[in-house]
Amino acid sequence: PRFTVGLTGGIGSGKSTVAELFAARGVTIVDTDQIAHSLTAPGGAAMADIVSQFGPEYADATGALDRARMRQLVFADAAAKTRLEAILHPRIRAATEAATAAATGCYVMLAIPLLVESGSWRARVTRVLAVDCAETVQLARVMARNHLPEAQVRAIMAAQATRQQRLDAADDVITNDAGLDALTPQIERLHQLYLTFSTGMAP
Ligand code: ATP
Repeated sequence: PRFTVGLTGGIGSGKSTVAELFAARGVTIVDTDQIAHSLTAPGGAAMADIVSQFGPEYADATGALDRARMRQLVFADAAAKTRLEAILHPRIRAATEAATAAATGCYVMLAIPLLVESGSWRARVTRVLAVDCAETVQLARVMARNHLPEAQVRAIMAAQATRQQRLDAADDVITNDAGLDALTPQIERLHQLYLTFSTGMAP
């Protein structure tokens, strides 16, 4: 099996920013959110099952998932959420495995926002890297980027794992409280460590 790093972190912690910096060093990034999105895009591999189980009104005019309608349903109906997950999760896992097997980078980093929340991912990665930042910083970033009121961002954060739960689950932590300059030395150090692990020459 390949050496794979699971990259996780709360909303707005800086996962995408960190992933780009690893990608610039030749690491293959596999983004499970992007995979989930493509499965429910027009013609996506999950759309036929979604339409047959939930009804044609859950596809929009382009054939993509009507995200707003589905969000409303699964928010109110736990059984519907389970049914949707039963359609999506096996396909996300299969596509992630295929992308990992096809990767040409020096090692693979799987971006998994909910790695800590959805336990089944942990066994599928060799090592967990958490991006950590103060909750006040997270709040400010997401409010600015998504133009959301504080209460709404707090509600999203409250539904995610806590900062401490993520730190407990992590093998490695990148602190992303400060500017981008502070990221480079942390990424450089971990990249060297991961290169060593991935060539099977762990110190
Ligand atoms: P999400 O969970 O919402 O996908 P994320 O964890 O991938 O978010 P990013 O998109 O990387 O987080 O960062 C959130 C926002 O904060 C972005 O607008 C990004 O440009 C900004 N940001 C991230 N890190 C820093 C930093 N060190 N300095 C300044 N801005 C940053």
